[in-house]
Amino acid sequence: RNSAEKFEFQAEVSRLMDIIINSLYSNKDIFLRELISNASDALDKIRFLALTDKEILGEGDDAKLEIQIKLDKENKILSIRDRGIGMTKEDLIKNLGTIAKSGTSAFVEKMQTGGDLNLIGQFGVGFYSVYLVADYVEVISKHNDDKQYVWESKADGSFAISEDEWNEPLGRGTEIRLHLRDEAGEYVAESKLKELVKKYSEFINFPISIWTSREVNVEVPADEDESTEEGTSESTSEEEEVEDEEDGEKKPKTKTVKETTYEWEVLNDVKAIWLRTPKEVTDEEYAKFYRSLAKDFSEEKPLSWSHFTAEGDVEFKALLFVPPKAPHDLYESYYNSNKSNLKLFVRRVFISDEFDELLPKYLNFLMGLVDSDTLPLNVSREMLQQHSSLKTIKKKLIRKALDMIRRIAEEDPDESSDKEKTDVESSDKDEKKGQYTKFWNEFGKSVKLGIIEDASNRNRLAKLLRFESTKSGGKLASLDQYISRMKAGQKDIFYITGTSKEQLEKSPFLERLTKKNYEVIFFTDPVDEYLMQYLMEYEDKKFQNVSKEGLKLGKDSKDKEVKDTFKDLTKWWKDVLVSENVDSVKISNRLDNSPCVVVTSKYGWSANMERIMQSQTL
Ligand code: ADP
Ligand code: MG
Repeated sequence: RNSAEKFEFQAEVSRLMDIIINSLYSNKDIFLRELISNASDALDKIRFLALTDKEILGEGDDAKLEIQIKLDKENKILSIRDRGIGMTKEDLIKNLGTIAKSGTSAFVEKMQTGGDLNLIGQFGVGFYSVYLVADYVEVISKHNDDKQYVWESKADGSFAISEDEWNEPLGRGTEIRLHLRDEAGEYVAESKLKELVKKYSEFINFPISIWTSREVNVEVPADEDESTEEGTSESTSEEEEVEDEEDGEKKPKTKTVKETTYEWEVLNDVKAIWLRTPKEVTDEEYAKFYRSLAKDFSEEKPLSWSHFTAEGDVEFKALLFVPPKAPHDLYESYYNSNKSNLKLFVRRVFISDEFDELLPKYLNFLMGLVDSDTLPLNVSREMLQQHSSLKTIKKKLIRKALDMIRRIAEEDPDESSDKEKTDVESSDKDEKKGQYTKFWNEFGKSVKLGIIEDASNRNRLAKLLRFESTKSGGKLASLDQYISRMKAGQKDIFYITGTSKEQLEKSPFLERLTKKNYEVIFFTDPVDEYLMQYLMEYEDKKFQNVSKEGLKLGKDSKDKEVKDTFKDLTKWWKDVLVSENVDSVKISNRLDNSPCVVVTSKYGWSANMERIMQSQTL
């Protein structure tokens, strides 16, 4: 085409496309789910804008917020069309090829180490999955602010953009046209497409329909000279009337023929699972909804969920999930982004998934949604962000989220707490077994960050804390368990920090404590050092780093005697050592075999903290 402008794909995007084109991945079905998800996003965007400006939707068909699928069997072209926000020329260039998202290289990397293509949507590059089934793709798009353009590419490193002067005007929205590869013949069947939509796009909030053919029997006038037997030639009264007009009084003779008609068949019933009563929603439905929400199409179930209605001043419904796995970039972007995975709806209208006021950062690993009837619908996102109800919503969400996490532990038979547990049906037991360890391995760091950041929920979060200790026997233990095992007369909770459990087990600081049967917690994550600066006490017990000054193990009758015996030696050591680097020299009862040990002062950094600061591992 003459007017076409050519562009090179950004290098990472190009690599990604190569991988997809050459993929032997057998589940190519996922492309349809990704396209429908994009169409749905685009519809959400226009619906949101229309809240404050009705004009934006246009009239007639343009105002219909829907997704349509059409198959051209002869030419093997599959089109998916939406009446969403559409893309300007600039959008097409940026979104489909020249700007790589943060997920692009992460996904390429994953794929090179045998990652699952099924998870493409989570990395924000779902669109390119079209090249699993197509060798040539056209994206026709019309945004309210621009003319209609065509983006096209054969995935050969470049794409072209042209002003669209030959296709039918779209009004508004986007049509993706896939020229299917020969091997993708299975998609040239409406039945297959219907099956996929039903399977993967059940929770899309807009009607999805397919242009579908149907064989119908129709009565047509029989040829004059052909004789038709009475009784078999039933004709409808309408047809008779038509015939009557044409042929006067003469009774028409008709015959039955097969004819192919086309019509839009709607494939989904738009339902909001969160509006239903929790009792009526099955576990399987929750799991499926989670998958569509998280774009996590592995077979794993969420670790837990909480579905509730909040009443009172601020009314809302919410559905929260703990995913089975942490997203690839959960902690990578912790300090510089505030990406929550919570979608905000107001009266069922999707508003945003970028509301950072709904959950604190440390709970960003949760997936879910909030649908509020109290928030106003017709204000800008900025206004909404400042709405006073958000604070109340946030508070309740945190409470519910922490309850939900606590429940994973309570229902896990492996969490052998001596306290009474909520009754779990025995059939459930196997399924719940080991779930908290799984949670802890994926999201334990978030709990720790929560303890650091959220003073008002510190105690609740501390209950969720797990660690290994000198007495945990290789398993995880909780602070409540620690306290239940404390020795008579033991006042403080003892812990030690370092790089690994193996290293710590050899530490001279533990000698005496272990011998005297005290339990010591091992903290081996760099974040633990920060954690312990905030977690000062739990259930009225103070925390004592055993490598620091101030360790009290209870009085020993021989203490005074020992002190006197070594008085001169202590003085000599003091004269030799006390300087800028050494504060004091003391007789200690913390050692057993080792002759001496360097201890850090109570308020100073531990040796481990020094090491962390030097390597900046956090
Ligand atoms: P993601 O959906 O996670 O952003 P995709 O690779 O699926 O990633 O899509 C890339 C981008 O292309 C989208 O973010 C959006 O800006 C744009 N896009 C894709 N499909 C459509 C569509 N049907 N309508 C409008 N914009 C679209
Ligand atoms: Mg997408």
